[in-house]
Amino acid sequence: MGARRRFRHCLMQDKESRLPNAQCSNDNQIPPGGVQASQTTLWNASTTPCVFEVRLMLPAYIYHPDCSKHEMGSMHPECPERTGAIHDHLLMKGLLEFMQPFEAPAATEEQLARAHTMLHVHEMAAKSPAEGYEQVDPDTWMNPHTYQAALHAAGAAVLATDLVLRGEAPVAFCNVRPPGHHAERAQAGGFCFFNNVAIGIRHALDVHGLQRVALVDFDVHHGNGSEDIFHDDERVLMCSTFEYDLYPFFGHEPRGPNMVNIGLTPRAGGEGFRMAVDQFWLPALEKFRPQMIFISAGFDGHREDDMGNLGLVEADYEWVTRQVMEIARRYAQGRVVSCLEGGYVMSPLARSAAAHVKVLIGAD
Ligand SMILES: [Zn+2]
Repeated sequence: MGARRRFRHCLMQDKESRLPNAQCSNDNQIPPGGVQASQTTLWNASTTPCVFEVRLMLPAYIYHPDCSKHEMGSMHPECPERTGAIHDHLLMKGLLEFMQPFEAPAATEEQLARAHTMLHVHEMAAKSPAEGYEQVDPDTWMNPHTYQAALHAAGAAVLATDLVLRGEAPVAFCNVRPPGHHAERAQAGGFCFFNNVAIGIRHALDVHGLQRVALVDFDVHHGNGSEDIFHDDERVLMCSTFEYDLYPFFGHEPRGPNMVNIGLTPRAGGEGFRMAVDQFWLPALEKFRPQMIFISAGFDGHREDDMGNLGLVEADYEWVTRQVMEIARRYAQGRVVSCLEGGYVMSPLARSAAAHVKVLIGAD
């Protein structure tokens, strides 16, 4: 009952299941399709007890154990503990209780090739070392598990897209690594191998037939990989805020009219960040009227994260998620897929991700 009281998504589905075609039965069957179900006892006009099957369309939580096997050396900030820290905090906050867990499948070559060149896909496979490390760029290495982890991280975005667009989950959060938003069409880098959100977005456009999809990216670094993939794709609007003096050291000049790139000064804080979202992201999103929204959810702009100096706090991630959800409810039937990007100090990463997920799943 807690779910019904606290979660708007569940309330929405409750109403739908009371439509005339909702089943009234006295057995205890779970409907097919893997969607969780529960029962509630209602009373009809003649006060005869009638057990309704109520489908709870819970938000999806997607992960894969291989994501924790990829590591780039004991001192590297993009470490295996990141996804575990988020998982533990979501569990401790009681948020996982209201989400459907899914294990991410590996993305196929066909799915990867919607955002990357086939040469890049094959190059990543060829570089995968049997032992030790293979350096991909000055900050990025592969270990023997990296390729599989990258396939599952990309596959998480594809599964999330399928679940949301098939109506089997209202929203999805992919707690996966390696991250993706620095991976360009033909180039890995910045801790990223395949661009997870971009692969999900192209799946939504090319397979599900959507015509307008928005990507919002609040990581402290600019999503140069996503911009490289989408700058000439008018079906996509990308809104990005980032600290201007950090990797990849460009992004101020948008590469296409569908790019809203806002470089923030160090210590811009929540006030500067919210002002940028208010003045630039929201009007662009309103005008674009996206049918679905993807989030590159990076939490390295937090004031306790030494990767950047923006000075954001949990309340800022909560606030920006709320703005995105409002746009999604207005234009996109609430359909949102969020994929983990950055965030390198465990406690603020876990707290910020929980603040984000809480709003994403309607528990705020
Ligand atoms: Zn980042």
